[in-house]
Amino acid sequence: MKNYIITLIAIIALIGCKQNQSDADSDTETSMRSPDTTTEVVGPDPDITPISHATMILDWDGTIIYVDPVGGEKAFEARPPANMILITDIHGDHLNLETVQAVADNSVPIIGPEAVGDELRSVGNLKVIDLYNGDTMEQDGFKIEAIPMYNLREEAKKFHHKGRGNGYVIEKGGKRVYISGDTEDIPEMRSLKDIDIAFVCMNLPYTMTVESAADAVLDFKPKVVYPYHYRGTDGLSDVEKFAQLVGQGNADITVKQLDWYPTK
Ligand SMILES: [Zn+2]
Repeated sequence: MKNYIITLIAIIALIGCKQNQSDADSDTETSMRSPDTTTEVVGPDPDITPISHATMILDWDGTIIYVDPVGGEKAFEARPPANMILITDIHGDHLNLETVQAVADNSVPIIGPEAVGDELRSVGNLKVIDLYNGDTMEQDGFKIEAIPMYNLREEAKKFHHKGRGNGYVIEKGGKRVYISGDTEDIPEMRSLKDIDIAFVCMNLPYTMTVESAADAVLDFKPKVVYPYHYRGTDGLSDVEKFAQLVGQGNADITVKQLDWYPTK
């Protein structure tokens, strides 16, 4: 009888544990799902390594994506080699031919706007792929769409005119990552849909204020936004204020800060 009671208690405890376990599971599932995608299997988030300013490495499901690799061979010497490279524009904080030659041979696809492609072709022996604003391509299981990037303020139009540079939306496994490139709060950004992770620039005089960046982010509502490219001629932009404005406007958007300007 005693044994029977002990066994019964053990069984009840076990059922209790299982119940808790499945509660915990369904909590995680609910929080990982967006409202309308109950049957969609969403892939893993990319691991993000900021190198500096606009330069970063995404390790996305084992594919290593370099974005705007500048800073010379040294900036990448301890990093996994690139499987593909995305470049947004021709300026020195986005395109550096020596760095590209140091990190890529002719087996690594380098995707960029035509103006970038022309510069890359001038050094030869690189696998250059031109992608135009609004066009989409597939690479290594990723869908890559070129989003326009340009200035709106009259006094800033000389920095980036529409059509030359590319922002990007990269998509895999139902997950969508937006990289703004150098832009203001253009309608093409404001109308983006279903962005999981966004990298948004905010520096003056070249791109936009933190207020404009926050206002655009509140429009397209990414799940997570990383301020990046925020060093201007007067120092670093007030990214805390950006985070505050986004938080006040929509508490469902998470602002994450990374160290884009390491001191050494
Ligand atoms: Zn820039």
